Amino acid sequence: MDVQLKGKLALITGGSVGIGLAVSKALAKEGVNLVLCARDKERLRKVCKDIQSEFGVEVMAIAADVSKSDDINSIIEKVKSAYDGIDILINNAGTGSEEKIIDAPDEKWQYYWDLHVMAAVRLSRAVIPLMQNKGGGVILNNASICAKQPLGYEPIYNTTKAALSMFSKCLANEAIPFNIRVNTVNPGLILTPDWKKTASALGEKEGLTADQYLDRLAKEYTPIGRFGTPEELAHFFVFLCSPLASYSVGSTYYVDGGWLNVVE
Ligand code: NDP
Repeated sequence: MDVQLKGKLALITGGSVGIGLAVSKALAKEGVNLVLCARDKERLRKVCKDIQSEFGVEVMAIAADVSKSDDINSIIEKVKSAYDGIDILINNAGTGSEEKIIDAPDEKWQYYWDLHVMAAVRLSRAVIPLMQNKGGGVILNNASICAKQPLGYEPIYNTTKAALSMFSKCLANEAIPFNIRVNTVNPGLILTPDWKKTASALGEKEGLTADQYLDRLAKEYTPIGRFGTPEELAHFFVFLCSPLASYSVGSTYYVDGGWLNVVE
C-alpha cells in the first residue's frame, strides 16, 4: 500500500524512545523527513543519526523540554529556519504518574498539565500556520486508554490525558476548514521502557519481577493477553497520517488489544 507520505515533514515530540521512536522509524520508512524532540540530547542525537543512515531521510534533532513554553518557542524557531512548513505534528511526549489525589501537590498537577496538555496546545497553535503554508496537515495526539478508563494509581495521568483528548476534539473542529485533520490515538498496554520502569517500581511492592508484573497485568486487563509492541501501534499512526485516512477527523482510536470495556 502506498501511503503517499514520501517527502513530507513530521515533527514528533518524544521521538527518541518507545512509541515515539517506533512512529518516527515507521514514518521514515515511508520517506518522511523528521524533526524529533526530547530532553536527553545524547540519546536523541544518536537516534536521529541512526534513523538518517537507516532510511536516508532528513532528521533534525532538537533537545527540548516540551512542558516549557520557551523550549516550544525555540523548537518552532529552529523548524522555521530550516523549513517552509510542516505536514505532520505528533504530540507524543508524556509519561505515567503515581500518586493519591489527597496528597499530590499542585506542582505535580501543573507539570503533567504542561506536559500532556499545554505542550499540545502550544505546538498546535504554532504549527497550524506552518501547515497552512503547505495547504493542510495532520495533527495526532497520543493520549491513552486511561483518558477514558482510568488506572487507579495514576489519577493525574488519567485526568491530563482526558483533557488532551477533549482538546484534540475541539481543535479538530477548528482546524478542518484549513484541511488539517486532528485525531487522537488511545493506546492500551504498549511495551516500552516507560512501562518497564513502572513495572519494576510497582512489582517490587508485591514481590514480583518486572516481567512477572507485566505478564500478570496483560492477562488480567486485555482480552488479547499480552502487551502490544510499539511497532504494532506505529502502523496505526502511519495510516492516520496518510491521505488514505482523509475522512478521519476529530476521532479517538483505541489500539488496546480489546482492553476498553465499553462500546465507544
Ligand atoms: P517512553 O518513556 O518510552 O518515551 C517517552 C518519550 O518522551 C521519550 O522520548 C522522552 O525523552 C520524551 N519526553 C518525556 N518527557 C518529555 C518532556 N518533558 N519534554 C520532551 N520530551 C519528553 O514512553 P512511551 O513511549 O511509553 O509513551 C509515549 C506516549 O504514549 C506518552 O505520552 C504515553 O503517555 C503514551 N502512552 C503510552 C502507553 C504505553 O503503554 N507505553 C499507553 C498509552 C499511552 P526524554 O526523556 O529524553 O525527554
